[in-house]
Amino acid sequence: MEFKDKVVLITGAAGGIGLAAARKFAAEGAKLALVDLKRESLETAVGDIEGAVLIAADVSKEVDVEAYVAKTVEAFGRIDVFVNNAGINGDFKPIEEQSFENYSNVLLINVIGAAMGLKHVVKQMKVQGSGAIVNTASNGGLLGAPGMSAYVASKHALIGVNKSVALEVASTGIRVNAVCPSGVDTQMMRSIESNARKGEEAEARKQFEAAVPLGRYAEAEEIADLMLFLASDRASFITGAYYRIDGGGGAVSV
Ligand code: NAD
Repeated sequence: MEFKDKVVLITGAAGGIGLAAARKFAAEGAKLALVDLKRESLETAVGDIEGAVLIAADVSKEVDVEAYVAKTVEAFGRIDVFVNNAGINGDFKPIEEQSFENYSNVLLINVIGAAMGLKHVVKQMKVQGSGAIVNTASNGGLLGAPGMSAYVASKHALIGVNKSVALEVASTGIRVNAVCPSGVDTQMMRSIESNARKGEEAEARKQFEAAVPLGRYAEAEEIADLMLFLASDRASFITGAYYRIDGGGGAVSV
């Protein structure tokens, strides 16, 4: 019960990593505010978590961001933990085929959406004088990947935002950290497999998993475990950091 009565706000909570985090925080006694694009998908995914407040919001719209923060505070009076997790992979194409729309959309959701989340949550956490934030970056924030330049740019940018905001709030009792997973077995990897080798998704998966020293994708729960640690008091001296969780990939690639 490490998070007993702590208020935890998670975006992208109807999907793989956000959903796994929601279940683990709930098991540790947290009160949850869960955000995703559609209320119905939240109800299907997490409707059985007792007392969770489900909020439909598009993180790329600042009015929605303000509203999900306000609804959380209205329901629970505070925000102890913010898991800033919603994101998209976008279309994978070589740079000469990239559309302005795809680039804009990926950066809007993954960077500006996440930054607006930080803006409004930090305001609340400053009033409280405490809080822990975990941003979901990616190993794509540390490495290049052909065809994935929009996504890779967005996650590099998010790591920059993570470091800067951590420094801005370091004296206020708020910690800000990021996780950098390699491939995680969620809907996003299904989309990435299909982007990489349309019609040969099973082959794409084999290829991606073979490139990981541990020989497989991560489970969403494994990423959630790191998020819970970073959000907990056990990580009290950790801020502005970003953690590889990549089955050994970082050891061979850098
Ligand atoms: P997912 O697609 O299962 O979940 C993402 C969730 O975010 C979905 O429920 C989706 O509806 C929601 N979402 C997307 N755009 C949104 C918006 N504008 N407003 C509100 N919600 C929105 O994927 P996942 O793997 O759980 O991804 C979660 C995070 O993890 C993302 O930021 C992703 O970039 C990151 N990540 C994933 C992997 C991977 O391999 N799956 C690896 C590294 C990092």
